[in-house]
Amino acid sequence: MPDLQVICDACRKPVQGAEGYLWIDNDQINAVLKAVAEWDRQHTLTDSPRPGAKMFSVADLFDYPEEVKWQAHHHTCDPKQDANAYSIQANRIDTWPELLDWTAHLMEKGWLTHTDWDDVLRGVHGGQRRIVLAPTSKEK
Ligand SMILES: [Zn+2]
Repeated sequence: MPDLQVICDACRKPVQGAEGYLWIDNDQINAVLKAVAEWDRQHTLTDSPRPGAKMFSVADLFDYPEEVKWQAHHHTCDPKQDANAYSIQANRIDTWPELLDWTAHLMEKGWLTHTDWDDVLRGVHGGQRRIVLAPTSKEK
């Protein structure tokens, strides 16, 4: 029995089996990585004895590139079907062990910290968007 359900961002209905996926736009990730590299370059001290030391003000942090959002869609609801996407089919992330495995796998990727995966995980118990507890699992 599935513990979790992927909820479509567009129609708000559960995504069953292979009907859809959780996905993120690779082009957006690449753009953010570029912007982060540029931000780092601008705020790294070149004459510091500590290599890579940075200096920035609180205001500079507001310029820090925004996280890329994970999205959830049925194939048929996906507004960007031809996006260059990294996607996880809904029925491959519908149990707790699978969610942990995916999280561990994604943590190996340098770009995960520039996405809102943390909010995806936080939302599970709150019954918020993207991944929520499956109805059967709530009754336990
Ligand atoms: Zn949908």
